[in-house]
Amino acid sequence: MKTLLLPSGVSVPVLGQGTWRMGEDPSQRKAEIAALRLGVDLGMTLIDTAEMYVGAEEVIAEALRDRRSEIFLVSKVMPNNATRHGTIKACENSLKRLKTDFLDLYLLHWRESVPLEETFEAFQLLKRDGKIKDYGVSNFDLSDMKEAMALNSGEEIATNQVYYNLLHRGIEWDLLPWCRKRALPIMSYSPIEKGEMSHNSKLKSIAKRHNATPTQIALAWLIHQKNVIVIPKAGQMEHVRENRRSLEIQLSKQDLIDLNNAFPPPHQKDPLAIL
Ligand code: NAP
Repeated sequence: MKTLLLPSGVSVPVLGQGTWRMGEDPSQRKAEIAALRLGVDLGMTLIDTAEMYVGAEEVIAEALRDRRSEIFLVSKVMPNNATRHGTIKACENSLKRLKTDFLDLYLLHWRESVPLEETFEAFQLLKRDGKIKDYGVSNFDLSDMKEAMALNSGEEIATNQVYYNLLHRGIEWDLLPWCRKRALPIMSYSPIEKGEMSHNSKLKSIAKRHNATPTQIALAWLIHQKNVIVIPKAGQMEHVRENRRSLEIQLSKQDLIDLNNAFPPPHQKDPLAIL
């Protein structure tokens, strides 16, 4: 598995697993558990979840409780809980649902009115108490990142999880280069546009060259980007296998040119895309 280093020096796989919408449909539970376990077997050991994903944390607990030492577990606090006290409570509730003692990474899901200082102070306390190993943010545009990193404890931010895929390349204008300069990884969410990449006609011809699927090309392109972690969600085992194989695809110079033509990079600053 290809890996990259977080600023804290921890190594994480560049391809992980998302869990949004897992645990919502009881008829899918068995399949979701099997998919998560298979993903871990295949090296996709970074698991992304959030207190907002009702039911997903419980599915993860059921799927991976016996494999805690193998996984890198990420969860998120909702902005309305992100006060000093609320963040600590929210984390403890996530730990209970996940049936674990600690999170490897804890993120502020997005920013609202609670001052960042308060949330980061709580993150520091959680870190001190061993409840989280690292912390970071999500849906932060460049101005938010600059503000956050200027704060006490802002320097310890481990990642910014954002909407980034071939159809949403806005961060390449400023946020991505800025983070790269600081060796701060970006985590790409909705990397396959919630499954829609699988029938994207612009990807089909490139996919054919590699005997691959359009989804695999979309993932391979993200994996090719420096300093990017990718977290597709797959509740079906065949999707997990397909996504894992995207790591083996080597995109050629011509593929990258064709992808740039089909999905142009930004020519100006656009506000950060948010799902
Ligand atoms: P996604 O990963 O782009 O797409 C997930 C959808 O694609 C599911 O319906 C899945 O179906 C389908 N899929 C997976 N592999 C496939 C394949 N090989 N071929 C065809 N379809 C495939 O979307 P996402 O769930 O929105 O994003 C990924 C993760 O990022 C989330 O689960 C969550 O952990 C995180 N996220 C974070 C934020 C944030 O604000 N920080 C926002 C959104 C998402 P099956 O499940 O049926 O396999």
